[in-house]
Amino acid sequence: MRTVTTRSELRAAVAAARGRGARIGLVPTMGYLHQGHLSLVDAARAAAGPQAFIVMSLFVNPLQFGAGEDLERYPRDLPRDAALAAGRGVDLLFAPTVDQMYPAGEPQVQVVPGDMADRLCGAFRPGHFRGVLTVVAKLFNLVGPDLAAFGRKDFQQAVLVRRMVRELDFPVEIVMGPTAREADGLALSSRNIYLAPADREAALALFRALSAARDVFALGQTDPGHLLTAARDVLDAEPRVKLQYLELVDPESLDPVQTADARSVMALAAYLGPTRLIDNVVLGG
Ligand code: AMP
Repeated sequence: MRTVTTRSELRAAVAAARGRGARIGLVPTMGYLHQGHLSLVDAARAAAGPQAFIVMSLFVNPLQFGAGEDLERYPRDLPRDAALAAGRGVDLLFAPTVDQMYPAGEPQVQVVPGDMADRLCGAFRPGHFRGVLTVVAKLFNLVGPDLAAFGRKDFQQAVLVRRMVRELDFPVEIVMGPTAREADGLALSSRNIYLAPADREAALALFRALSAARDVFALGQTDPGHLLTAARDVLDAEPRVKLQYLELVDPESLDPVQTADARSVMALAAYLGPTRLIDNVVLGG
């Protein structure tokens, strides 16, 4: 695996791979890699086929952090990430500085999403998805991948990237990978290392709550109120969990559903101490 830090080295390395007939798969990340990120490398490689050339980006994108969020303390460890990425078969690691990505400071031209970016997480993180889509568009332009892999864990992000690709005609196939979890159900996240032991334990209520709703749906319940109550009861029983939102939405529009079906997605965000975690499940499994 080669690591590059500049846009010109990135373009040159991808062009060379393409010249050898490679299909380029991109896995964008903010680093501090875990098995969820690495499972996306596998998904990208499987989708790209025998000529796969997998590019992973590691960039803690300041544009997607709001005032008072964890930009400065977000975990960073390039040597560790490089070892994990190389071990999983990443071909090219792109780890730019902020100056390399935004040489003129905050870009004057950005990708501005519509109302879908103001729901769920977007309601609490104004400008977050503008920052995400702007950096993803930039990475798509720099790498020119045939496909890019995103995790279902960040469900709203994956849906918005899909919309951007469709509506702005990026010639990139989007692959969505399943949420990788700890054995006890907690969704893997770079932010899990912030959790104090008692909060780590309490955080299990998130997936337990979503699973409770899924169980009630499996018994035939399709009323959103009942399904949300099933999840909320589990969350309410865990006082360390400070719920930010819990919603049952359509997977395409992100609108709240009137009647649940197997495609409906229950999504939540909650604070455990100072740490904000998100999770979601598809009701039909
Ligand atoms: P991040 O580094 O948090 O920006 O995440 C980079 C990519 O990894 C995004 O597409 C995330 O959705 C994905 N990802 C993060 N956590 C998980 C997880 N537990 N399972 C699957 N994908 C994940």
